[in-house]
Amino acid sequence: MINFQYLRTTSVKSAISLLVKDKNAKFLAGGTNLIDLMKRGVASPEKLIDINHIPLKQIEQVGNKIHIGALASNSAVAENALIKEKLPLLAQALEAGASAQLRNVATVGGNMMQRTRCGYFYDTEMPCNKRKPGSGCGALGGFNRMHAIFGTSESCIAVHPSDMCIALVALDAEVVLAGRKGERKILFKDFHRLAGDTPQLDNNLKADELIVRLEIPVSQLTKHIHYLKVRDRASYAFALVSVAAAIELQDNLIKDVRLAMGGVAHKPWRLTASEAFLKGKQATLENFRQAAQLAMTNAKGYGENDFKLKLAPNTIIEALNLAKSKA
Ligand code: SF4
Repeated sequence: MINFQYLRTTSVKSAISLLVKDKNAKFLAGGTNLIDLMKRGVASPEKLIDINHIPLKQIEQVGNKIHIGALASNSAVAENALIKEKLPLLAQALEAGASAQLRNVATVGGNMMQRTRCGYFYDTEMPCNKRKPGSGCGALGGFNRMHAIFGTSESCIAVHPSDMCIALVALDAEVVLAGRKGERKILFKDFHRLAGDTPQLDNNLKADELIVRLEIPVSQLTKHIHYLKVRDRASYAFALVSVAAAIELQDNLIKDVRLAMGGVAHKPWRLTASEAFLKGKQATLENFRQAAQLAMTNAKGYGENDFKLKLAPNTIIEALNLAKSKA
């Protein structure tokens, strides 16, 4: 770890002005991923700007949207009565992530900014295009059991590690970003990127921007919901495959449905073709099976992760069944 300067700020404006002064500066919120990256020499910021004292911890309903401040902790959101009532899929996904201790410290904005857990990315002796562009990808012909099966490139096959983000993309969330020229709002699905030939970039945040809040529409997708995470052990493990499923049912007819997968791509992976197939159909096992098969179009394994080609559709079917069966 290199020596770094520690700065503390209490407003969005001052945070941004401190950030733009130095391209080697980084924001510090919970630090649950950034400090690990610094200890391993993967990130070496010369300035850490502590943003924890900026008042961005609100969780409130504004019109037909729920606003969540970027500095609300993962546990504060998961345990909030409004979130449990209006966005239970988000609460479930958050509770599936990390450990209770980490959730107490990790923030919503930090969760969005966390980096892949690909082992080659964290080992500075190994080739990794994400850490050092042009150095190669150790995972392509190496240990890739945890890696992507959708949207991959020859540059990088890493997966996005968050659970929270999988629910947010399914719920049509928006992200509000503040920069030198004011605020802009983007769809959550457009926040993270596929690796393409720029794997060093995880998202579309600009160099002078800070995540300030999420805005999530209130909907009828509150009863038949399930976040199913398949992992190697029951807690504190990243997803091999996860599925966020939410269905609005009228009798057994699917009026609305949302599906997104984690552990399979460089960004939260929304299953739009499967959703379009299911809308207006009966919630039957056969229709769930067909939707899961549709979701697997263009899936590709890399050897050790070939098992995901079977695990992913089975997880989709099971998540839909569990969502449907909620009383
Ligand atoms: Fe690096 Fe991506 Fe390859 Fe992992 S998969 S070694 S993060 S380039």
